[in-house]
Amino acid sequence: MKAHDGMYIGGAWRPAAGPDVIEVVNPADEQVIATVPAGTAEDVDTAVRAARAAFPAWAAIPPAERAARLAALRDVLVARKEEIAETVTVELGSPLAFSQTVHAGVPIAVAGSYADLAATYAFEERVGNSTVLHEPVGVVGAITPWNYPLHQIVAKVAPALAAGCTVVLKPAEDTPLTAQLFAEAVHEAGIPDGVFNLVTGLGPVAGQALAEHPDVDLVSFTGSTAVGKRIGAVAGAAVKRVALELGGKSANVILPSADLAKAVNVGVANVMSNSGQTCSAWTRMLVHRDQYDEAVQLAAAAAAKYGERIGPVVNARQRARVCGYIEKGVAEGARLVAGGPGSPREQGYFVSPTVLADVTPDMTVAQEEIFGPVLCVLPYEDEEDALRIANGTVYGLAGAVWAGDEAEAVAFARRMDTGQVDINGGRFNPLAPFGGYKQSGVGRELGTHGLTEYLQTKSLQF
Ligand code: NAP
Ligand code: MG
Repeated sequence: MKAHDGMYIGGAWRPAAGPDVIEVVNPADEQVIATVPAGTAEDVDTAVRAARAAFPAWAAIPPAERAARLAALRDVLVARKEEIAETVTVELGSPLAFSQTVHAGVPIAVAGSYADLAATYAFEERVGNSTVLHEPVGVVGAITPWNYPLHQIVAKVAPALAAGCTVVLKPAEDTPLTAQLFAEAVHEAGIPDGVFNLVTGLGPVAGQALAEHPDVDLVSFTGSTAVGKRIGAVAGAAVKRVALELGGKSANVILPSADLAKAVNVGVANVMSNSGQTCSAWTRMLVHRDQYDEAVQLAAAAAAKYGERIGPVVNARQRARVCGYIEKGVAEGARLVAGGPGSPREQGYFVSPTVLADVTPDMTVAQEEIFGPVLCVLPYEDEEDALRIANGTVYGLAGAVWAGDEAEAVAFARRMDTGQVDINGGRFNPLAPFGGYKQSGVGRELGTHGLTEYLQTKSLQF
């Protein structure tokens, strides 16, 4: 796999300050496919200076011109869609078809949505005797994870650029090749030098240096709640804007009037997709006790069908972590009805699609984010019990409700403490705000709400 041996800073690939490198591993066969430089605080500082220098001009150009550059970026991503999908597949391990439709397809849609929004958003409004200007916040430090490697980059960089901000990106160490490809696309799209900069590296080194850099005005982070808390603390101490998109433990609530087979099958597919590495996955399935045994059987059968189709998890550490959770679930009294902690293949970081039944709300597997292909099925007594269980975690990122009619599902969804709810299997909407209640985060991504994260207001009184 081809890789740049430098950082993309100020519109050019430049040598890293230090000699360290990161090995990129294909999780499907455990082979090293490339190396990229591991950035230091010095690289981060050079990148932040480049972003600062580029900021005044980028902030000042008419939004229509920023929109044109974002449209060009979208077009480059479209032209390189196949290459994007292949790159995500070799460094993340997701099956190629999923990489094409989701890992490449969704970021193209999101980049396009910000080209449109940059052209149409009202960056000035009249409020009584005031004119309110919506101005870019400044230099953005973006820190992204590996599970949707391009989507999570585009969901930060596209709105930041649309707003008139400039960006330094520190992508996940596991998926730097997708980030390098994105930097090439930015360059090809004719986005001015220094508006977007890339520093590959390790979280506690390059990521931390970026979050702590005094000349970064806003830190946007997606990843674990543990790291998110630290970044929030650093940003708070410096009175910096911060956006945190963290973990989840979302509930899939199947009400008695629902089409049970459909709700279970879609629910299993939701958890197994991307090998369970989706922060908004519905990892807790809640079923009325009268339908519980049937639901468990359906879920076990649906999970077994995924055995051959599922990709590996991202690395050996994640595999060990996920399998540790499966063992812990069984030790705490859950019943294994599909999959298990053993290795299904000789090579690669594969985990069998797993279903744990008889999970109770207080078990570790019902409370903590597993981030692997593991579904927990829990029985509930009545609607109030279902609501208590659904809301009974520190998280609140997503969820689902199934019922015989939409109104019944919506009535339940209104009472859920969570940022997104899919009603009877509703489709992903790249324009709807995405983000968490409670410890799932601060701020929203996507659409207009994602754009306003990168804007601050100035009121002029007349
Ligand atoms: P993570 O450590 O939070 O990684 C997210 C990003 O933050 C990566 O770019 C990471 O760099 C960086 N980072 C790590 N430590 C940092 C620090 N001290 N300062 C600044 N940046 C730092 O997550 P992970 O280790 O990849 O995964 C661990 C768990 O997090 C998963 O099992 C899952 O539960 C959760 N997770 C959630 C999401 C989500 O979308 N909400 C995504 C991924 C993971 P490195 O790549 O070098 O670590
Ligand atoms: Mg990490």
